[in-house]
Amino acid sequence: MRIKTRLIHGGIEGDPHTGAVSVPIYQVSTYKQEAIGVHKGFEYSRTGNPTRHALETYIAELEGGARGFAFGSGMAALSTILSLFNKGDHLVVGDDVYGGTYRVVTRVFSRLGLDATYVDTSDLKAVEAAIRPETKAIVMETPTNPLLKVSDIGALAEIAKAKGVLLVVDNTFMTPYWQNPLDLGADIVFHSATKYLGGHSDVVAGLVVVKDAQLGEELHYVQNAIGGILGPQDSWILLRGMKTLGIRMEEHEQNARTLAKWLSERSDIKRVIYPGLAGHSGHELIQKQARGFGGMISFDVGSAERADEVLAKVKYFTLAESLGAVESLISVPARMTHASIPAERRAELGITDGLIRISVGIEDVQDLIEDLEQALS
Ligand SMILES: *Cc1c(COP(=O)(O)O)cnc(C)c1O
Repeated sequence: MRIKTRLIHGGIEGDPHTGAVSVPIYQVSTYKQEAIGVHKGFEYSRTGNPTRHALETYIAELEGGARGFAFGSGMAALSTILSLFNKGDHLVVGDDVYGGTYRVVTRVFSRLGLDATYVDTSDLKAVEAAIRPETKAIVMETPTNPLLKVSDIGALAEIAKAKGVLLVVDNTFMTPYWQNPLDLGADIVFHSATKYLGGHSDVVAGLVVVKDAQLGEELHYVQNAIGGILGPQDSWILLRGMKTLGIRMEEHEQNARTLAKWLSERSDIKRVIYPGLAGHSGHELIQKQARGFGGMISFDVGSAERADEVLAKVKYFTLAESLGAVESLISVPARMTHASIPAERRAELGITDGLIRISVGIEDVQDLIEDLEQALS
């Protein structure tokens, strides 16, 4: 089955009891047992729920892993993954990861004795050098947020394997439609399904897929123990949204390519960052490991004041955190998604005050161009 067909027919189709084509919303907490421990596979909905199970089966199939898991948010998904580790363990984390990832590692898991070193994961030597005897995992994103730096998943997987550590990849920006980290050697892939997978700005959710069944057992243990699960209603909304992932991603990307090219031809933009542009540092690498470039663009208008002007004037770009929705969204990372990163660190990373990030929607690209044109001039 090819990916577009898998998106429609993957996982569990409909309901065998009624013939319903859509998986029903099993709004239920507990299940009747015929005798103690004798049941139809479900006992209590924290442990397992049929609607969530359909979603978990579906994402596992899309990412090509042994088992999938659904959580109440991307951060709940990551926190559950991090709960696999012990006090004294160490992580190597990308230095350009999602702000919330940085926050939960440095402010929450650090208190529980989980140590971390931040490195540029596109620098393989730096990653290797950061691995210590107590390192248990490399946690990375590619492309990163908001600088869209590309890291070599396959090469990092080799390093991880040689050192006996897990490779954990946040695949939110690419989605399984464009990139499959497990096929490239990663052990765990996770998503903020709030973004492209949901795609309609109407649900907060996180998904995880693990490559092997043993790790799947361990993660299910932690998922059930901690309980940050996704409810049946939201699981259904995600199942529904994901059916159109293929056509949405194609449109996002077409529009993003057109906009990135248009922006890069303007003299009043300091810098345009899009992996689909030939001048981007990860342009070759992303084509080796992914089937597309995605729908995210960052560009520098020079100053916070000019960024504010643009934000005030755009009509079709909604000023909002988040990304990956059908409608175009615009944000200023330094003051929004990355505000929790200290100013000096942002400067080090290149997240300037004039850096604008757009999540290109699926509107008519001509309207998007005209909108940015009037906002920039
Ligand atoms: C949004 C986001 C997260 C966090 O997910 P939530 O669903 O908001 O908890 C993690 N990683 C990336 C890349 C994100 O964009």
